[in-house]
Amino acid sequence: MQDNLKQTFLAEIDNIKYIQELSNLKAKYIGKKGLITERIKQLGSLSPEERKVQGIFLNELKNFVEETIKNKEVQLRQQEISEALKKEYIDITLPGKDFYFGGSHPVNKTLFEIVDIFRELGFTVEEGPEVELDYYNFEALNIPKNHPARDMQDTFYVSEDVVLRTHTSPIQIRVMEKKNPPLRFIAPGKVYRCDSDVSHTPMFHQVEGLMVDEKVSFSHLKGMLVYFLRRLFGEEIPVRFRPSFFPFTEPSTEIDIGCIICGVKGCRVCKGTGWLEVLGAGMVHPNVFKFAGYPHGKYTGFAFGMGVERLTMLKYGIDDIRLFFENDIRFLRQF
Ligand SMILES: [Zn+2]
Repeated sequence: MQDNLKQTFLAEIDNIKYIQELSNLKAKYIGKKGLITERIKQLGSLSPEERKVQGIFLNELKNFVEETIKNKEVQLRQQEISEALKKEYIDITLPGKDFYFGGSHPVNKTLFEIVDIFRELGFTVEEGPEVELDYYNFEALNIPKNHPARDMQDTFYVSEDVVLRTHTSPIQIRVMEKKNPPLRFIAPGKVYRCDSDVSHTPMFHQVEGLMVDEKVSFSHLKGMLVYFLRRLFGEEIPVRFRPSFFPFTEPSTEIDIGCIICGVKGCRVCKGTGWLEVLGAGMVHPNVFKFAGYPHGKYTGFAFGMGVERLTMLKYGIDDIRLFFENDIRFLRQF
């Protein structure tokens, strides 16, 4: 009977696979109402000789059960650890996950390229505020209040006298107020207009340029801007000048390059004309020099401006300007 108990216990513990089951087994044999505990409680009803024999036996059995359970627990815990190690094993010979290097935004890439080309031509870089006085944005550029040219630009007004600059041209005035010729600089920056479609966004980038000295002529303008466009779009790019109007230059011109898509044959992008407008320019209007405080007739100069997003779209064949500002990593990764 007693030997049976030990054998049943050994058989049961042999079947146990999880540590959690051990506590039930412990309770069953040596818990408050366990099989061995009950037997020990009944010792009192036995004869003294019988009690002595049984007492020793049961105590040994109880210790044996305790010891065996403890050993089993150690064994199961070790098993758990080695199984976890097997499951969580990392094969360091496998190739790692792909990772990507960050890069410049396409608009910045074009901007850096523009700055580099003009730096080689001896131009420095100037900056000005994005929240600008009406005076610098319009007035001093020969665009008085009620002038029809103000309608050409959809302006964000902060107050009656303060605007978000609609072009980088106010930087011309700010620099000329502080420095005397010879001047040769470009002014890149963000500009703002109340406009949004496939080719317009409320914020975009312009680069303004100005060269002022004694005897600066239209041929300087032409030479430098043709050189610039050939550096940016390639030696073979056709370039043409068209007469135009800007309040702050006289004469004024718009500069086209031969359509990159169709090769001057006419397509959807160039609206059938074979040409794409890329620059506005002209000889600085005498009134602008007057606002800058330069002596009348002493200096001449030329100014030019370009949209960086537009140049980037033409350079890479992008047909929607809004892609630049959506931060879609799939788009940006291509550059
Ligand atoms: Zn075309």
